[in-house]
Amino acid sequence: MRTDYLTILFCLLTMNVSFSCCHNGDSIDEESNGNNGAYGFCPDDNHPHKIDLRLPSGTKWSCCNVGANTPEEHGGFFAWGEVKEKSSYSRENYEYDNSYEAGFEYIGDDIAGTIYDVAYVNSKGKWRMPSLEQVTELIIICDWEWRAINGVNGQLVIGPNGNTIFLPASGWHWDNSFQGKEEEGFYFTSTLSSYNDEALVRACGLEFNSKEVKPDNYLDRSAGCTVRPVCP
Ligand SMILES: [Zn+2]
Repeated sequence: MRTDYLTILFCLLTMNVSFSCCHNGDSIDEESNGNNGAYGFCPDDNHPHKIDLRLPSGTKWSCCNVGANTPEEHGGFFAWGEVKEKSSYSRENYEYDNSYEAGFEYIGDDIAGTIYDVAYVNSKGKWRMPSLEQVTELIIICDWEWRAINGVNGQLVIGPNGNTIFLPASGWHWDNSFQGKEEEGFYFTSTLSSYNDEALVRACGLEFNSKEVKPDNYLDRSAGCTVRPVCP
C-alpha cells in the first residue's frame, strides 16, 4: 500500500497534476450556528472532532485547524517547525535559519510527532501534522468543492463515505506580508521538501484556490501557514 501511495505521489509531483474544482458560491448552514452539529459534518459543537472520511490509510482528519475553535476559523499561522505564532514571518526571523547563505537548519525529513510539530505540541500529543502522503491521499480519494461556510471561502472535502471536512482559504504570511485570504489556502505538511535544494529551505504543503487543489513541494519553511491536524 505504501509503495502505491508513493508511486501516485511521485506521478503527481512530477506531472504537476492539479485538480479542477467547481461549485462556486454555494454555502452550507450560513444561518445556523447552534448546538448539535450546526455544521452538518460535526456531531456537535465541541470541536475539534476526529472525522472519518473512510480513507484507505485509516487516517482521521480534524474538523478544525490548529488554534481554531470552529471549522471555518483560520486558527494560527506557523512557520515550519515552529510552534508559536509571530507578528510577522520572514527568513530573517525564522527560528531555524542558520544564515541566508548557509540555508536552514535540518530538523528532520518528517517532523510529525516531534517537538517541531505544532499540531502535536499544541494538543499535547493527541494530533499531529499530516505528511505529504496523507495530504496526497486526501486529494486523490476525496471530492473537493469550493464553498463558503458562515461567509468564509474554502474547500469542502468529501470522503467516499460522504463525511466532510472544511478547509478555509486562510491565505499565508511571508516576507512580512499577508496574502491570499479568502482566495487561497496554504497548509503545511510534516514533510521536508525533496525539491533539489541543498539549503533545505522548502517544505511540502497543500495548496488550493477556487479552481485547483494540489500538493506543493515548494513552500518556504519560514512562511506562516495554517495546519490541519490528523490522527494517524
Ligand atoms: Zn467539529
